Amino acid sequence: MDRKVFHGNFVPDDLASILLTHFNHRNLEVHKIGSDDRVVVQIRSKKHALSGGQTAIGVTLQKFDDGVVVSVGKQEWLGIAASLGFSALAAIRNPFSLLSRIDDIAQDLEYLQLSDDIWRVIHSNAKTIGTGYQLSERLKRIVCKYCLTANPIGAPSCFACGAPLGKLQPKTCKNCGYILIQSDQICPNCKTPI
Ligand SMILES: [Zn+2]
Ligand SMILES: [Zn+2]
Repeated sequence: MDRKVFHGNFVPDDLASILLTHFNHRNLEVHKIGSDDRVVVQIRSKKHALSGGQTAIGVTLQKFDDGVVVSVGKQEWLGIAASLGFSALAAIRNPFSLLSRIDDIAQDLEYLQLSDDIWRVIHSNAKTIGTGYQLSERLKRIVCKYCLTANPIGAPSCFACGAPLGKLQPKTCKNCGYILIQSDQICPNCKTPI
């Protein structure tokens, strides 16, 4: 499973509708489950639907404070519909639990191709809905814990009371948008060295 964090003032449905528009054509079957804070878009080929294949690629869009977390992984077609809870999702989305599945090679190649396509579509549309891997303007302010004044990111000390702000500075992974703390040496999400 591949996961990235997109910062900005937008909701899961903004990305979901982009994916629906892009992939709902030709030999693909697409549907959306959930709304508001958590949306899942599942995509599979009609070819495998006819031959009884149950595997789909699932894009999970989860709202958080500063944007949306996007996860892409294999899922059971419609299997997710009954249980949109966190624990069930975790089990379904755990890639290791899917390794024992018997999928034919064609389907696996298709999966990789689709996965690349999904990230490409998200990236090429990210700017139009105002998102990216950097913290949004809103989170680009840090509140001094002594006097509660909002300071711009990067300021070494509070401009109101002079308290040091170094330890509070948030930053994000350039590769996946994950929010890091100052002491992180590698990104906990994608393992890129900082
Ligand atoms: Zn202060
Ligand atoms: Zn990362």
